Amino acid sequence: MENQYDGVIAFAIVVLVLIILWVIPIWFGLKWAKIKGVSKLWMLFGIHPMTGWIAYLVLRFGIDPKKQCEKCKESIKLQAQICRYCGNQMSQEAINRAIEHYNTRKK
Ligand SMILES: [Zn+2]
Repeated sequence: MENQYDGVIAFAIVVLVLIILWVIPIWFGLKWAKIKGVSKLWMLFGIHPMTGWIAYLVLRFGIDPKKQCEKCKESIKLQAQICRYCGNQMSQEAINRAIEHYNTRKK
């Protein structure tokens, strides 16, 4: 009977690990998505919810913020003063507006 008891403990540990690695990130992600107003679909991104988190973090912090050039419509760096495609010069006001737009979209 002792071996059977060990099996139950091992099973409980496996379940516990699954909950920690799987259920908690999903639960936390859904809760967080609700607070932030972010799509819950991020958490369905991968088979494991952590891939959703990783994909989200890479997209949010790993990629330079971009804006669209008013003239040629190419995406350029948010802080750029001159478009690298068409040489369009942007006023500081336009840059600030783009940054503001980016920040409101981010939330
Ligand atoms: Zn341009």
